[in-house]
This record gives sequence, structure tokens and C-alpha cells, in this order.
Amino acid sequence: MAVIEICDICKKQIHTSDGIIIKYSDMAGFGFNENDRPIRKERNHEARICNNCISKIKKCCRKKSIF
Ligand SMILES: [Zn+2]
Repeated sequence: MAVIEICDICKKQIHTSDGIIIKYSDMAGFGFNENDRPIRKERNHEARICNNCISKIKKCCRKKSIF
């Protein structure tokens, strides 16, 4: 049985052995602190990126030298 996932950039179906999974987080979550006051909370995400998109990103980074 083939396990299929979706690339988070191009939205194509890819095999789980293709590409990488990146973990990232932002502070757009919402929660309450110990005094019941609303606070921003860290949210954790996982994204799968296929090999095709990885090579595109690498090309782009080399051109613009952002990283
Ligand atoms: Zn992709």
C-alpha cells in the first residue's frame, strides 16, 4: 500500500519517501495564562515539501542570497 501525502507548496501528491518534513512554529495561537488572561501562544506546524519544490527553493535562495 502506497502512502501518499500532499506537498504543502505545490499541493501535488507525493510519496512519503519523497521530500522532507519541516517543523515550524508561530505565535499566532491563542490561549490563557494562569490568571485567565488571554495570551498569544506558540503553535507548532508540520509541512511536507517535495524534492521538486526543495530544488526550486534552493535555486531561489542562491539567486537572492536571503539565507
Ligand atoms: Zn512540491
